[in-house]
Amino acid sequence: MSMDITFLGTGSAYPSPTRGASALVLRREGECWLFDCGEGTQTQLMKSHLKAGRITKIFITHLHGDHFFGLPGLLCTLSLQSSPDANKPPVDIYGPLGLRNFIWRSMELSHSQLLFPYTVHELVPTQDQCPAEEFREFSYLDRDEVFPQGAQGRKIHLDPVENSYLLVEDEQLVLKAFRLFHRIPSFGFAVEEKPRPGKLNVQKLKDLGVQPGPLYGKLKNGMAIVLENGVTISPSDVLEDPIPGRKICILGDCSGVVGDAAMKLCCEADVLIHEATLDDTQEEKAREHGHSTPKMASDFAKSCKVKKLVLTHFSQRYKPAAQRDPSVFAYRGPTLLSASGY
Ligand SMILES: [Zn+2]
Ligand SMILES: [Zn+2]
Repeated sequence: MSMDITFLGTGSAYPSPTRGASALVLRREGECWLFDCGEGTQTQLMKSHLKAGRITKIFITHLHGDHFFGLPGLLCTLSLQSSPDANKPPVDIYGPLGLRNFIWRSMELSHSQLLFPYTVHELVPTQDQCPAEEFREFSYLDRDEVFPQGAQGRKIHLDPVENSYLLVEDEQLVLKAFRLFHRIPSFGFAVEEKPRPGKLNVQKLKDLGVQPGPLYGKLKNGMAIVLENGVTISPSDVLEDPIPGRKICILGDCSGVVGDAAMKLCCEADVLIHEATLDDTQEEKAREHGHSTPKMASDFAKSCKVKKLVLTHFSQRYKPAAQRDPSVFAYRGPTLLSASGY
């Protein structure tokens, strides 16, 4: 089952000609999930091998402009490229409280009407996710509002037992959000595939006298079968070990985590994507601004025993290698992490 991650933007604060603002796409089985949508994300998408029309879910880590100012423009362009279809499922957008109002106001003020349905699900942050003076209570924004285009989406509160937010769950995977500490409330997302049944041991089946056919499917789907001779075969008799699911964790801006959920949910992740805005000599400044350094990111990755750490969200003060040394080839397009594995 294919899965890959494309970095559309790895810069902090604003997009530059050589580095886009925060955005990445996790593609699984052809379906694209967009994480953050900084300004210019739609042009980065056009330069990539991805099709924007394949985006079915969008996740916004926090409400700093470099993570979501690209959203109204992208939604309008998607609308221009889509044809009205009453049966089309809505694009689900997840983000902190206030995001729904931002999208709706942007559409209203620009007289934009999207031709596809969308639903905005808001995560309610807790006050300990940022310095006290920065916390704002946005719930008043949508008081008495009637939102257009039907479904309003959920307002998702922290699960006090799990210390996390359950956003998506289906037969194949589960996606939870967890709390981070930043200048304003920020979130991380853990996408975890559920284990898949192992392969059928065909030789064993033949030895038992089961011929290829519908019975194989039953066993694979977890059902026991009874042969003509009265022998019962359970799936566990002929299935190899379950294939473990993969886990990808994507963190928003942060200088730390809030509660124990981040550590638990990121434990042994295949890929952890963490910000590293400033270099290790600037740790004090990074913390002051609610950001991380490579060392802070790797300390967290180590404590979670993750398999691969990818750094992103670099300050624009760090120029690309080609600007420092013109002999280095400059690749200005989006960066694909891996086409085969993750
Ligand atoms: Zn940022
Ligand atoms: Zn930020």
